[in-house]
Amino acid sequence: MAFALPVLPLRPPATAPSVERTSPRSVRISVTDRCDMACVYCRPSMLDGYLPAEDRLDVDAWATLVEGLVQAGVRRVRITGGEPLLFRGLLDVVRRVRALGVDDLALTTNASRLDALARPLRDAGLQRITVSLDSLDAERFARITRGGDLDTVLRGVEAAVNAGFDEVKTNTVVLRGENEHELDALVDWAWARGITPRFIEVMGVGEGGRIWRDRLVPAAEMRDRLAHRLVDGAGERDPDRGPSKYLSARDGSARRVGFITGSTDTYCAGCDRLRATSDGVLRPCLSTNDGVSVADELRAGADAATVRARLDEAWALKPDGSWRGCTEETARRVNMRATGG
Ligand code: SAM
Repeated sequence: MAFALPVLPLRPPATAPSVERTSPRSVRISVTDRCDMACVYCRPSMLDGYLPAEDRLDVDAWATLVEGLVQAGVRRVRITGGEPLLFRGLLDVVRRVRALGVDDLALTTNASRLDALARPLRDAGLQRITVSLDSLDAERFARITRGGDLDTVLRGVEAAVNAGFDEVKTNTVVLRGENEHELDALVDWAWARGITPRFIEVMGVGEGGRIWRDRLVPAAEMRDRLAHRLVDGAGERDPDRGPSKYLSARDGSARRVGFITGSTDTYCAGCDRLRATSDGVLRPCLSTNDGVSVADELRAGADAATVRARLDEAWALKPDGSWRGCTEETARRVNMRATGG
């Protein structure tokens, strides 16, 4: 079946009503912009002069930052990067954030170091984990990640399953002409381990801006490829969670598959998500570099109340109802590794 590239909605006139102005309830903290993989849709180009910076905030600074956000009403925290397992104080960050009493503490990783760290992360209080896994074919995996070792990653996933996290999920960015034929195999592999697989449309964020129009596989096509095993429909979001829409297995079991449609659809309306970049900037949207830095103040010993004040300034920059998320031109200039996917 042929699928045409979706026609994105025209920007509504300036008089269009804004989306309801939410308050921040969830945050993604990118604890480092360093990464040991260089996925083709993610890594900043060295041609653009990008060099990864060393960790710019220490454990105390991250703990104070999250404390300020929690005081302002944030209830869910996801640690990401870059590759968060490369951040030296990661276990301490997990312990300190957990002690703040958030409802949900999760982490996204490429799993290159998860074999050794899964159990310590669980013991430190991490509740849920998501592993990026774009292929089960070692050669393809290495090509997409520019050097990643599939066996190492699979060992990391097994360690996560054995560590007993509340939930283990996988993220697969589906690329036309690359891994689009692997959806069935990835679902089999994940379901056999009690893992929930999720498939993501490549987005025009950062390096994705160079390739997304040629490589995009719309979520509608992904669902069609899996139609023999999933119930019909576009799926439902989990309340109080991210933008992923889930479809259940046809066999009536509790098994599900998630789809994230950052390119053919946007999920800006009602978005309650904030991001804290690896260099200490509070950003209210993935698709723009707009934000307010709190790094200098944190390094000078600022308290949580200061973070809270900066959060109000940052949240005022949240785009309104005419925003088209990751399809906006500004998305191309975002550094995914600093901002955190
Ligand atoms: N290094 C960790 C990892 O690989 O999971 C965490 C950071 S990575 C930026 C987080 C997620 O963002 C990954 O699942 C990755 O696939 C996704 N991502 C990065 N760039 C993307 C793009 N242009 N389109 C869609 N997803 C993207």
